[in-house]
Amino acid sequence: MQQGFRAFPPVEQWDDWVEGGRHYGLVATTCFNCEAACGLLAYVDKESRTVKKFEGNPRHPGSRGRNCAKGPATLNQITDPERILYPLRRAGKRGEGKWERVSWDEALDDLAGRVRRAIVEERHTSVMYHVGRPGEDGYTERVLAAWGIDGHNSHTNICSSGARAGYAFWMGMDRPSPDHSNAKCILLISAHLESGHYFNPHAQRIIEAKQRGATVIVMDPRLSNTATHADYWLPTYPGSEATVLLAMANVLIREGLYDREFVRRWVNWDEYLRAALPGEPVTYERFEEELRRLYAGYTPERAEAESGVPAATIVEVARAVAAAGPAFSAHTWRASAAGNLGGWMTARCLFFLNVLTGSVGTRGGTIPNAWTKFVPAPHARPPHPKNWNELTWPREYPLAFFEMSYLLPHFLKEGRGTLDVYFTRVYNPVWTNPDGFSWIEVLRDERLIGRHAALTPVWSETAWFADYVLPVGLGSERHDLASFETHAGSWLGFRQPVQRALAERLGEPVADTRDTNPGEVWEENEFWIELSWRIDPDGALGIRKHFESPYRAGEKLRVDEYYRWIFEHSVPGLPEAAAAEGLAPMEYMRRYASFEVPGTAYGRHEQEVPTEEMAQAVVDATTGRIYTSAPPGPPSANIVPVPAPPGDAAGRRAAGVMVDGRPCRGFPTPSGRLEFYSSTLAGWGWPEYAIPTVIESHVHPSRLDPAREEFALVPTFRLPMLIHTRSGNAKWLNELAHSNPLWLHTGDARRLGIGTGDLVRVETEIGYFVVRAWVTEGMRPGVVACSHHMGRWRVAEQSGTDRWSSALVRIEEEGGGKWRMRRLHGVQPWSSADTDSSRVWWRGAGVHQNLTFAVHPDPVSGAHAWHQRVRVVRAAPEDQEGDVVVDTTRSHDVYKQWLELARPASGAGGLRRPYWLLRPLRPAPEAYRLP
Ligand code: SF4
Repeated sequence: MQQGFRAFPPVEQWDDWVEGGRHYGLVATTCFNCEAACGLLAYVDKESRTVKKFEGNPRHPGSRGRNCAKGPATLNQITDPERILYPLRRAGKRGEGKWERVSWDEALDDLAGRVRRAIVEERHTSVMYHVGRPGEDGYTERVLAAWGIDGHNSHTNICSSGARAGYAFWMGMDRPSPDHSNAKCILLISAHLESGHYFNPHAQRIIEAKQRGATVIVMDPRLSNTATHADYWLPTYPGSEATVLLAMANVLIREGLYDREFVRRWVNWDEYLRAALPGEPVTYERFEEELRRLYAGYTPERAEAESGVPAATIVEVARAVAAAGPAFSAHTWRASAAGNLGGWMTARCLFFLNVLTGSVGTRGGTIPNAWTKFVPAPHARPPHPKNWNELTWPREYPLAFFEMSYLLPHFLKEGRGTLDVYFTRVYNPVWTNPDGFSWIEVLRDERLIGRHAALTPVWSETAWFADYVLPVGLGSERHDLASFETHAGSWLGFRQPVQRALAERLGEPVADTRDTNPGEVWEENEFWIELSWRIDPDGALGIRKHFESPYRAGEKLRVDEYYRWIFEHSVPGLPEAAAAEGLAPMEYMRRYASFEVPGTAYGRHEQEVPTEEMAQAVVDATTGRIYTSAPPGPPSANIVPVPAPPGDAAGRRAAGVMVDGRPCRGFPTPSGRLEFYSSTLAGWGWPEYAIPTVIESHVHPSRLDPAREEFALVPTFRLPMLIHTRSGNAKWLNELAHSNPLWLHTGDARRLGIGTGDLVRVETEIGYFVVRAWVTEGMRPGVVACSHHMGRWRVAEQSGTDRWSSALVRIEEEGGGKWRMRRLHGVQPWSSADTDSSRVWWRGAGVHQNLTFAVHPDPVSGAHAWHQRVRVVRAAPEDQEGDVVVDTTRSHDVYKQWLELARPASGAGGLRRPYWLLRPLRPAPEAYRLP
C-alpha cells in the first residue's frame, strides 16, 4: 500500500471485504476514461456479482490510489440504461436509425468473409481499422500485421501529432516524460494540472513539487485552474508560444546560463556546422558563436510584441528555468502544438530549453518517454505488412505523425480509393473530428465504404451511420495492457474484466468474457481472435497461426493465455515478485493489475554499448555513429534502436554514438545525438525548419481583421470531468458539466455589446455556430475559447447518443453541400431502469463547434491545426442556441488550399518516408520504396 493511504482495504481482505453488511470481492483493473490508465479497484458484490463502486488502486505506481472524477464514474457507464447490450445490424438505409438484433456469429461471418476476400484478391488497402482511444499497446497492430494489411488508422493527427513531431525531430522519441515530482521548475503549456495528458498522475506530482517550493509556469491564453495555481501565468497569444520560448532560449544563451558541457556532448552541433558553414572549422566555440547569432533576434521585446507577455516577465521566467538547471521539467501535448499551423515547432522550441539546461533524462528533468513506458513483447510477432496504404499515409505528408486520419472523407471524395470493410473502434469522427458533415457524406455512401462495423460501448454520432453496431466492454469489462510516462519510473497496468476475474478467482469456468459481461457485450481482443480464425479457418493464409495458443499447439488462443505468456516471459522482475507472494505471474496481475518494472529512467543515453556488441560494430569516422549487425537487446532494455534504412544489405542498425571516446547508447536519431539540426527536415523539403525557429500561425494577428471583429478561437481545451465522446454515458459527470460557453474578454465583450448569457454567432470559414457568451477577465483580449467537450446530439428522440448528454436535433441537407442543424430540445428527464433519469434537472448539452471547422493539415507534422480565425457577432433574431450551419463544398476547397502547402515525398533514398521516423504498424522495408 502506498504511504498515506491507510483507508484502503488491506490486500489480504480483497477476497472478502465486508462493508455495510455486504461481502465484496475487490478486483483491480485500469481506468479507460482517458489516456492516463490509472488504477481502479472494483467492489464486486459477491452475491449479485454486480459492481457497486470503483475506487483507486493503491498498488498502481502511476496513480497511487488516486483518481479524478471520471474514474469512479465508470460505475455510471456500466449501469447506463442507454448502453448497447446486443449486436445490431442496420435494417434501413445508412443513418436512417433502423436496427435489428443480430448474432455475433452472423456479424463475424459477414465481416470475416469480406476481409478474407479483400486479402485473397490483394485489395489489402480496402480494409481499415480506425481507433479513437486505443487503451492498449500493440494488440491490434499485431492483428493487422497478421492479416498482412497496412490498415491501422488512429486519431493521432487531431490530437498529438504536432507535439510528437516537435519532440521526435530532437530525440527520435515522440513524447516527453516530465519528472515533475523532482523538478525545481515546471513549465506547462496548457492546463496539465486539471485536465492535461496523464492528468491525475501528473497533477499529483506537480503539486508535490510545488509543496517543496518548485516554480510553476503556465502558458495559456485562458486563466485555467492550472494557471490559477501557477507562480507565473503567461497568457500568450495563440501561436506566439514558440517566439516566447526562443526569447527565453536567447536569455539563456546570451547570459551564459546554459549547460555548455551537455550541449557540447549531446547536441549534433558538428552536423549543423558542416551543413550550414561548409569549409569552416568544426569547433564547439564556432557553434556557440553561431548559437548567439541565430537567436539574438528573438529578443524578449519581440516576444512581448507577439505574445502580449511583458518582456521583463519573460526574462524573469527564463532565469527561473536556468536556475533549475537539470531539474527543469516541461510538458506540452495538445494546446499550441495542436492548434496552430507550425504548432509542432512549439514542442521543438520547448524541448530546446530542456537541451540548453541539460535537463534531458535527468532527475527532475524531462525524460524521453521510451525510457519510462514499458511495452512487453507477445508470444509471436507477425511479419511487417508488405503494402502501403496511401489513404492513411499519402505522399504529400512524408513526415506526418501519424496517419492523416481526418482527411479520409476528402481522399474518398477525390477517388483516391474505397473501403470494403471499415472498423471504427471507440471512435466518433463525425463528432470528434473537424468537418463532421463531410464524414457523414462519405459514411452514408455505400460505394465509398462497403461495410462499416462500429465497435463501441455506447451509441455515438458515428455509430448511427454504421452497418453493424457491435457492443464492446467498458473499462471494467475488457483486457488490455497499458503503460504510460507518468513519472520517472516504468509500470505495466493490466485492464481486466472484473466480473470475469472474480469468477475465475472463485474457481468458476469462463468460456469468454461475454459470460460475465452484461447482455452480449464482448471485448475486442477475443473478437479479433475469433474474427481472425474465421478469416483463415484452415490456416492456408498464414493468419491463423498467429492466433493459436502458445500452450496448446494448434488450438485457438485464449485471451488469458495471451497475457499469461507475456507476464511469464516478457516482464522483467514480475515472475520473481509473484513467486515471492506464492503466486504465478498471471495470478499476481489478476490480483494487483499493475507492476512496477525495475530499472532507472535516468541517463539512458549515457549507458555504454556492451563490449560484445562493440566487437561487431563499425564506427563512422566523421559522425561517431556506431552501427552493428548484432540483434538488439531484450525489450526490457527500453533502448529504441534506429532501424536500418531499407536496402541496407548488411542489415545493420544504429546502436550508439561515440562521445568523448566512449561508446554511448545515445538517442535514436540519425546522428545518435539530440538534433538541433535535423538533416531529415533539411533533406525532405523543409531546410528552413531544420533548426528551432518560428512558423507563423494561421491565426497570427496579421491574418485577422480587427475591423470585422475577427478573433483567434481556441477550441481545444478540456474540462476535468469530461473526456471527448466517452463520458456522455456518465450521469454524475454530465450533472457536473453540461455547457460550453464562449470565453470572451470583458473589453472585447463591451465593444461588441455582449454580456454573459447572450447568444453569439461564431463564424468560421465554412459556416457558423451559435453559443452563449461568458464574459470574463480570465481570457486574453483578442482571443475567444470554447471547450470541445460538449455539444453531443442525436436525431431520434429515444435512441442514439446518450440522453444524459445529448440534445435532440434536426439536421437538414439543403443541397450543394449545405447543412443545417437545429436543436429541438436539450437534455431532459426520461423514464428508464435508472430512476435518476427521471430526476435529470439540467438542460444544457453545449454546442457542437467542430462541425464548423474545415480541415487544416499542417504540411510537416500532419496535425490538424485546430485554432480558427473567427468572426464573433451578436446572434441574429432567427438564431437559436446550438444552431450549426456548414458548407461542405467550401470545406473541400479549404482542404485543397492547405494541401497546396504540403511538400510531397521528395523520394530521398527513393523512399516514401524516412525509415528512421516512428510509424505505428511499420510496413516491410520494400513498402517504403516509391513505385
Ligand atoms: S486521470 Fe481520471 S479519467 Fe484518466 S485514467 Fe485517471 S482516473 Fe481515469
